[in-house]
Amino acid sequence: MAAPDCRSVKLSKGQKKLLRKQAKAQHILLKQDGIATVSIPTKHLVIANGGLGNGVSREQLNVVLQKFGTVETLLMLPHKPHAFVTYTAIQEAKEAYSALNGQNLKSSENTKLATLYLNFVEDVVSEDVFHSSLPPGLLVIEDFISAEYEKRLLVFADESSNATMENAQKSLKHRRVKHYGYEFRYDNNNVDKDKPLPGGLPEICSEVLEQSMTEGYIKFKPDQLTINQYEPGQGIPPHIDTHSAFEDGIICLSLGAETVMDFKHPNGHSVAVMLPRCSLLVMTGESRYLWSHGITPRKFDVVSASEIQKTCTITEDISNLTLNKRGARTSFTFRKVRTTLCDCAYPEVCDSQSTRKCKDTPTLVPNSDGDASKLEHKYVHDVYDEIAGHFSSTRHTPWPKVTEFLKALPAGAFVADVGCGNGKYLGVNKDLFMVGCDHSKSLAHICRERNFEVFICDGLLVPLRGGVCDACISIAVVHHFSTEGRRLSAIKEIVRLLRPGGKGLIYVWAMEQERDNIKSKYLMERKKTNKRQNCTTMPIVNEDQDTNRVDLAHFSQLEDHNKDIENEQNCAKLPVHTNRTSFESQDLLVPWHLKAGVKVDSASSLPPTGPKNITVFHRYYHVFSAGELENLCSCIPNTRIVESYYDQGNWCVIIEKH
Ligand code: MN
Ligand code: ZN
Repeated sequence: MAAPDCRSVKLSKGQKKLLRKQAKAQHILLKQDGIATVSIPTKHLVIANGGLGNGVSREQLNVVLQKFGTVETLLMLPHKPHAFVTYTAIQEAKEAYSALNGQNLKSSENTKLATLYLNFVEDVVSEDVFHSSLPPGLLVIEDFISAEYEKRLLVFADESSNATMENAQKSLKHRRVKHYGYEFRYDNNNVDKDKPLPGGLPEICSEVLEQSMTEGYIKFKPDQLTINQYEPGQGIPPHIDTHSAFEDGIICLSLGAETVMDFKHPNGHSVAVMLPRCSLLVMTGESRYLWSHGITPRKFDVVSASEIQKTCTITEDISNLTLNKRGARTSFTFRKVRTTLCDCAYPEVCDSQSTRKCKDTPTLVPNSDGDASKLEHKYVHDVYDEIAGHFSSTRHTPWPKVTEFLKALPAGAFVADVGCGNGKYLGVNKDLFMVGCDHSKSLAHICRERNFEVFICDGLLVPLRGGVCDACISIAVVHHFSTEGRRLSAIKEIVRLLRPGGKGLIYVWAMEQERDNIKSKYLMERKKTNKRQNCTTMPIVNEDQDTNRVDLAHFSQLEDHNKDIENEQNCAKLPVHTNRTSFESQDLLVPWHLKAGVKVDSASSLPPTGPKNITVFHRYYHVFSAGELENLCSCIPNTRIVESYYDQGNWCVIIEKH
């Protein structure tokens, strides 16, 4: 007997869609900002898609909200895609909820701005919402220097940069830069510690340095200075200053114009910090070692309308945000060059400490099959086993084109999904006999729990007789093999499994994340959550961006590994990719931020995202350039490419064995 339907009223298609969208909004709010919605009406509503980060202005939203009652507060956080409204009475909030949920917000010219999704929240003055305090260890001291001193420093900066501008412009297209004390090298993001520059730090700076020391902001007297000159619209991508290069305690003077610096914790939480003219920024401890900082290239900042100069944390006074035009800003950043290895409490972002951790790993971008296998073991297999539960919880929607491929196969076809992950394609077409395999025990286990047929194996050695498959799929797998030879072998293995006339569908991650001016979903996700961050997809030279480079050739040297000098020179370093940005290299490590408490079998529960609960794992990827996948396939005998296309940031081919 069928279970009775608990809904007595049948919902229309539109109502169902609304509920679905609303649930999705709830999910995003919880996942990205820790905002828990409630089903019982309150005076407070969170309005998804109605935030500043979504291009909605205070005025536009306010006009609409006031139709339903007295708006006590309207809270709009910078860059957030949602807003909070508090009415004086629950009834008013209820009316706004039923009238606006799922409705389009229109501009005064009647163009659509956004579709709003509303949910009740318990309260808006909760820690989850505000997060307004500065990152631990960060200070902004206003009026640290006089306007007169500022002027002298600016003159000095202009003179010195004019003298070297040609050079500087060559190396850094996006801002002017000059170093004193030690040269900061952009190739290794470090300083030549045994090659101090003649002249040391300019005399004009001694006042700042003495004051910083006597007032106790820093412990070590800086011996390195970087002067940056930013025109409006220029910025610096998010980075952490190389741990092994500089001591704790980095100070930065802002001159000429204020700007907004974005600090970001690895758990995704970000804080926009206003740096007024003549202020001193002090980064110590967690803010120096764990949080990244950057300046988004743009010409306007969202700031508090009242007392712009006096506001340090943008989120402090939220009731009255406006746009602030940027001016030309010069910064003097002082750092103390480090002579010992860093011993900070944040090994996951520490280049000194990852040295020790990675000593058993071969040189990167491996040259031999053995090295490649070791690399994949550490940066693919081990990682997926660790992150399986969390990974699986983020991989529930099958890609439409893959589904289409599987649905088009005849009933009864025998299909292998090589590298099946959590098995999201294994049940797409119930008329097929599908079997999945994966290297990850944990992922295979998840498939088993879903009652799919699965086995554990290496993608290069699938334990199935050749020619048995009517079709094979390999979705987002081949890019995890770390040499071209192994990538080719992986595709050959799929061809081996196919019967003559059988078809294989292969997806790999594309280097190109933007096609025909359309950004891939991968880049877009960042845009949605944090619109301004989108700008970091511009290729900007950044002195510290490569902080996270895992230079294993160098490490193995430190660890006195057997090394082949030639090999070391040939092998490129593997950069650690910044998620949701363009790729800077084809071979890279992509971070996975695992929240503690996410277990294999409790994938859906979301734990609190405290700073200490994040572990960062790195997955190796070779992102494919246009034509590369087709080239590989064309090397395989008895195989023709039926179709090749680009889909959501992936290069894809359908091959047929003949
Ligand atoms: Mn920096
Ligand atoms: Zn460190």
